[in-house]
Amino acid sequence: MVSKQQLDVRILAIGTELTDGQVLEKNAAWLASRLTEMGYRVLEHRTVSDDRSAIELAFAEFIKSSDGVVVTGGLGPTSDDFTRHCLAAVLGRELIWDETSWAKIAARLSQRGIPVTENQRVQAFFPSGAEVLPNSAGTANGFWLEGVGSTRFVAVLPGPPAEIAAIWTDGLAAQLKALAPRVTNRKLLLFKTIGRGEGLLATETERILDDLEAESGVSRIAVGYRANVPYVELKFWLDQETLALENSLREKVKVAFSDVLIGEGDFDFADRILNVVTAGGSVAILDNVTEGLLLERLKARYGKLASGLDHPPPLLTNLMYQCGGTRASARATIVCELGPMVGSQSDILFTLRIDEKEIKKEVKLPGPAQAGASKEGFTERSRRWAAELALRFWSENV
Ligand code: ATP
Ligand code: MG
Repeated sequence: MVSKQQLDVRILAIGTELTDGQVLEKNAAWLASRLTEMGYRVLEHRTVSDDRSAIELAFAEFIKSSDGVVVTGGLGPTSDDFTRHCLAAVLGRELIWDETSWAKIAARLSQRGIPVTENQRVQAFFPSGAEVLPNSAGTANGFWLEGVGSTRFVAVLPGPPAEIAAIWTDGLAAQLKALAPRVTNRKLLLFKTIGRGEGLLATETERILDDLEAESGVSRIAVGYRANVPYVELKFWLDQETLALENSLREKVKVAFSDVLIGEGDFDFADRILNVVTAGGSVAILDNVTEGLLLERLKARYGKLASGLDHPPPLLTNLMYQCGGTRASARATIVCELGPMVGSQSDILFTLRIDEKEIKKEVKLPGPAQAGASKEGFTERSRRWAAELALRFWSENV
């Protein structure tokens, strides 16, 4: 079982600009998602201001209770940056001069025509026993300590996110990977849904898990929900014991949520249309329902797809987006329009024309969004919903 090998990590973000609300704390989330992926269990994020006693208290508590601690911020040259001093004090260690770091700082500053000042010297001091983590994106090198009491590692990083990313790829990731628990056969199944509230979705999901447990006699699959209105993500973590249930779980989820499922794992229903575009084909979209949300959705996803290509064609050159008319030249035409009004409501009509083929589908927005169709137009929620259903319809029929 996985739990025996678990390593608990706590993340500490330091900076008064964070606690006073000027800057939104983002480093912990960035680090936590990567640590979690590696198999660590992140138990706590804490943010403290540039206050020595608050920082030292957090260090003392974290080091006592964690297998690993990751710290960001307060490695700068100014008098309000004293992360290194606080850690040294808590550990009862001295700060030791590192000539290599100093040479780098001095070179970096003079290359940029910035005068080297006395206060910068502090950035070349590290607690004794620390291994320096070189920062290729800034002057503040980070550092790494192993075997601090029962804590396996303490990693201390500067605050700016770009510098953390640089240290991460230049070596920290490999170091953390080497210490990460060996988790075998662990798998995450992720489903994206739209249009059913979290409560209802959870009730149905728990029923599926009850059924699976009863049928198989294997212990219950771990599940998580993340609502980001109008989307809800369903996450299942399979381990050694439950991995065999993967296919039946997937089947049950697909049947139970066939009307609201809009993606699984990295797959996104927008991809099929975008694949036509990335292959150089043109797609015309006529949409008088979503007020641009469909385009917004395609653009957001295209960024992700295109980042993997050497020469991605510009999206808007091959995607013709308009509110009316037709495009004879396009390889595929996609229409998303309102059907005839019945009372104060209307169905949405999807039409897909690709090569010579034409497919039509009429949908009613499920659930509460049905009431969203009115002469005044749709609520944003229903328009998002319509955009997702449109992507799914085309994806299934292209
Ligand atoms: P330096 O002073 O050399 O830039 P530092 O380690 O002292 O490095 P900080 O002064 O703590 O870094 O932070 C510099 C800037 O980086 C902050 O003003 C803020 O914009 C950004 N930053 C720091 N910590 C975070 C964080 N946890 N989340 C998001 N942004 C942060
Ligand atoms: Mg700071």
